[in-house]
Amino acid sequence: MIPRLTIIGVGLIGGSLARALRRAGAVGEVVGCGRNEQSLRRGVELGVIDRYTSDPAAAVEGADVVVICTPVSAMRAMFTAIRDHLAPQAILTDVGSVKGCVVADAQAVFGSLPERFVPGHPIAGTENSGVEASFAELYERRRVILTPHVESDAAAVDRVRTMWQCCGAEVVEMGVRHHDEVLAATSHLPHVLAYTVVDTLASMDDRAEIFRFAAGGFRDFTRISASDPAMWRDICLANRDCLVRTIDEYVDNLQRLRSALIAGDETTVFETFRRAKHARDNFYRD
Ligand code: NAP
Repeated sequence: MIPRLTIIGVGLIGGSLARALRRAGAVGEVVGCGRNEQSLRRGVELGVIDRYTSDPAAAVEGADVVVICTPVSAMRAMFTAIRDHLAPQAILTDVGSVKGCVVADAQAVFGSLPERFVPGHPIAGTENSGVEASFAELYERRRVILTPHVESDAAAVDRVRTMWQCCGAEVVEMGVRHHDEVLAATSHLPHVLAYTVVDTLASMDDRAEIFRFAAGGFRDFTRISASDPAMWRDICLANRDCLVRTIDEYVDNLQRLRSALIAGDETTVFETFRRAKHARDNFYRD
């Protein structure tokens, strides 16, 4: 049970966390913090948070657990704003999609990584944003990655793990660098591809005709390009080293397929598709 939880950034991810913990009876009071008073008020109306403030320092006062759920580009400013106001027993965690930049920001602001800081990342989301889009089931049967550091307090890590388990998630631990490499491949690259495919088609002269005849597969493949462009700009730039390496590998593979198509090389085309189908069928067997 978390007697007082502070969520800084009450949007899809923070709002869904609050809803899931409430549903599980795992939280007492939920304090929300953000810049937009209208959406915070909506958070109270929806029963996601109990009260709110736009001042991060006031929001964390007396909190047992503080979860930063803003875009990654805002985390440094949030750490700075709350640094001198956290209660001595408070546990600090975040949900940022890139861990290297968040850990570097925490280190820069706190001088060294606080023992009770447990970086985290729920591998769950939708293309929708804001508190209205939040729902309690978002984390059910999804994974949450924690990237604790060597100085992390074991009890703090346990508490953050239990918090996510209460939401129905499976919690795994990973190194920061490994997290950013894996996520560049599995999440950031697919978003880059979806955005650039739609952008390419949308700039073609006969785009109206193209989109008119787009079928279900196109809709499935491009769903994630409806995600918030500002948030994904931040994520891709924050993880650009890993992402650019992954894009290079993908471009090499795409070039091989392009050459095979030009050469009428049936075997290479078929083998590329067969390997991909085999891999996907295996990964999503359950
Ligand atoms: P969201 O729905 O847009 O919510 C973000 C919240 O942060 C908003 O309620 C906003 O409230 C606040 N915020 C935005 N910009 C801010 C700024 N510059 N300074 C302070 N507060 C700001 O976004 P989300 O999808 O929940 O994503 C939040 C975090 O979760 C991000 O770090 C993202 O990387 C991570 N994440 C996202 C997904 C996903 O699929 N969406 C999955 C896993 C992790 P105000 O406008 O009231 O300030």
